[in-house]
Order: sequence, then structure tokens, then C-alpha cells
Amino acid sequence: MIQSICVLGSTGSIGKSTLDVIARHPETMRVYALSAFSQMVELAHQAQQSQAKVVVVPDAAAAQRFKDAWNSSLPLPEIRLGTEGLNSVASAPEVTTVMAAIVGAACLEPALAAAKSAKRILLANKESLVAAGGLFMQAVRESGAQVLPIDSEHNAMFQCLPPEAQCSAPTEPHGTIRRLLLTASGGPFREATPDQLHHVTPEQACNHPNWSMGRKISVDSATMLNKGLEVIEAHWLFAMPADKIQVVVHPQSVVHSMVEYTDGSILAQLGQPDMRTPIAYGLGYPQRIQSGVGLMDLVQLGRLDFYAPDFARFPCLQLAFDALNTSQAACVALNAANEVAVDAFLQEKIRYTHIPQVIAHTIDRIEKKAYVLAELADVLALDQHARALANEQTQVLMSVH
Ligand code: NAD
Ligand code: MG
Repeated sequence: MIQSICVLGSTGSIGKSTLDVIARHPETMRVYALSAFSQMVELAHQAQQSQAKVVVVPDAAAAQRFKDAWNSSLPLPEIRLGTEGLNSVASAPEVTTVMAAIVGAACLEPALAAAKSAKRILLANKESLVAAGGLFMQAVRESGAQVLPIDSEHNAMFQCLPPEAQCSAPTEPHGTIRRLLLTASGGPFREATPDQLHHVTPEQACNHPNWSMGRKISVDSATMLNKGLEVIEAHWLFAMPADKIQVVVHPQSVVHSMVEYTDGSILAQLGQPDMRTPIAYGLGYPQRIQSGVGLMDLVQLGRLDFYAPDFARFPCLQLAFDALNTSQAACVALNAANEVAVDAFLQEKIRYTHIPQVIAHTIDRIEKKAYVLAELADVLALDQHARALANEQTQVLMSVH
């Protein structure tokens, strides 16, 4: 079967790696649609290379920039706009497979549209599960969509599951699983002192020791909020309670995560820190296909280390566990406040150490009321409310910056 693929967020780190893997398999994979929020020159280049039929851009001005950048005799792809455009390609009948690789809660609506349309969803975006894991999984169950986790840790766990447990939206964890062991590199500040953390710059925070990623997830990795989001992600993907998900710091990022079984066995997936491996796993599933990733030299590596996480140095990790144990509303607030805080930090408006303060303050304000999050509109409204609260707190912190 030929897969017809929609790559949401094609100009990002995951998007580019996805196009790299797809280009290695012209006999079985075609690109139907691409999307990008900025970088129209790059998007035009990608659309020419992949011969995409449709591109989605944020607005009319971006569409004009895309047309200006088109320097090929190939016909111009159809251009669609905004969230509606994203939803339309994610659910298009021409599409079999959707790579959800937009950063942040902006991926929620198109990911849900893909879930409702029974697509094969390669889920790189984690924020949509954090904000609306219940709604997303419900849509997957109702439509019979297939979810393949691309986040390297969850992809590793998925690979370590018995085939009968590799289902897309379980309602309870597989009976033989005792725990999920979620590995974390610890990021660039694994051993930083409180004073060093106070003076961290965006460039330092984005300089991850093992992985090359987009700027938002790089900062999330530095604060370890990323690991917290991944705990919530694992909770939804594998129907696993928080107390059965253990975070293990593993600085080499070679063991991508592990599953521990009732008989005491621990199965691990190892590999290079290159996202083309989980992407190729998702695109090829249930077969294994070429990804372009080279050999890994275990002898040269020599050793693998494991530590307990330091919750005092990384308060964001504790905030995420607490949010998962508190409520869905707290998870929405955690994610929204983090997006606002990281953006403000990257623009050098607030300090690195302010990020957990903005999140804690926002969750605190949200928790004072009870929220019913039965529908997407409820989640989106709370997300907007949390962003407004987080922005307010950011302004307060800026004045003492
Ligand atoms: P990135 O910043 O490199 O790329 C993001 C993409 O989303 C770009 O194409 C951008 O144009 C698009 N985009 C940004 N804001 C948008 C908006 N408001 N509306 C529509 N499109 C928008 O990010 P990335 O590192 O590729 O990460 C993408 C997602 O995958 C994130 O959710 C991240 O957590 C997850 N993820 C990434 C990695 C990695 O190695 N990079 C690993 C695991 C999970
Ligand atoms: Mg990850």
C-alpha cells in the first residue's frame, strides 16, 4: 500500500527528519500536504522537492510570501489557511497518514481532526495529549484511528510492548506490565548550581547535550518540564497511572526508555539520539524500514549511567506530576503557562528560573475553580484563560527582571 502523508509542521526539526525518511521510500510513500507557520521559502523548497499537492500556511500574507518564493515550473500547490486549513488536510480522504509535528497546543485541533477521521497518526506533538489526552483517546477509540508514538521515549516503550498490547488507545495498562521507566538526559543543566540557573541564557538552554530539536522543546528539556509532559503523555498513551511511571536520569540518551514486566524483566530500546529512528518505525509499522541512521558503537560508548531525578533543581518536573495527580484543568494550565513562559524566556523578558513560577502561579489560580472539560471548546477556552493568567504573571516578573 502507498501511504499518502500529511506532514504538519514540516519546517520544524521533526518535520524535516520526517521528509528525510519519506524521501528514502519513494515506492511506498507520497507527500500529500505540508504545513508551516513561518519560513515560507523553506516550505516552498520542501513542496517542490516532495511534490506536495497542498500546503497550509497561517494567513493570506504568508500565502503571498509562499507564492513569491515559488521558483519552479511545477504547478503551485493548493494553498489553504489557518486552523481550518490544518484540520482539512489532517482529515482529507486523500490522506492515510498524518505526522503531527506542530509545536504546542496549536497541534490539538488538527490532531483531533486526524483522530476523528481514522488516520494513522504519527504523534510527535505531546502538548495535545497533555491538554486533551482524554478527548483525543476517546476520538481514536470511536473512529478506529491508529496512534504511533514518535516521541523517542514513548516510541521506545511501544517497541518494548508485546504485539497484543500495541493498541492505539488502551483503557487499562497491559496486565503484565509493572512499571514504565522513562529515561531523561537531564538536559544541559543537570549539574548546574542555583546561581548558574539564575543566569541561564536562551542560547545555553537551547544547547542540548545529545539532541538537536526546536527551541521550545529544548528549553522544556533544560527545565525538565519536557519530562513532566512526557509522564502525562505516557499516562494517556498506555493508560498507566502516574505512580507506575518512573523517571530515570540517563545522561547518555542511548536507552530511550524501558518497560518492566511482572516477571522482573526489563525490556529497553536503545539507539542513537536521532529522531529518524522513531519516525521510520512509525512510517514502516509493523515492518522495519531504512531511516538513514548509522551504526551505534557500544564499545566506544563504554558505559550507561542511571540516576534519580533532582526534583529540587527541576521544580517543573514536580509541577507536572502534581498536575497529573490533580486534574485535567491543572494539566491544561501547566501546558499553557509553560508555552507562555518559555516564549517570554526565549525573548529574554523573564529569567529561566521564572518559568516554574509562572506555571505554579497559573495552576494555583486555575485550581480555585472547578472546570468541566467535556468538549474541545471547553479545553480551548481554559487554555486561553490560562494563557492570559500566565501573561499577567509574566508582566509582573518582567517588572522585577
Ligand atoms: P520546531 O519548533 O522545530 O517546529 C515546529 C513546527 O510547527 C514548524 O514547522 C512551525 O512552523 C510549526 N508551528 C509553530 N507554531 C505553529 C502554530 N501556532 N500553528 C501552526 N504551526 C506552527 O519543533 P520540533 O522540535 O520539531 O517539535 C515539534 C513537536 O514534536 C513538539 O510538540 C515537540 O514537543 C515534539 N517532539 C520533538 C522532538 C524533537 O526531537 N525535536 C522530539 C520529541 C517530540
Ligand atoms: Mg522525548
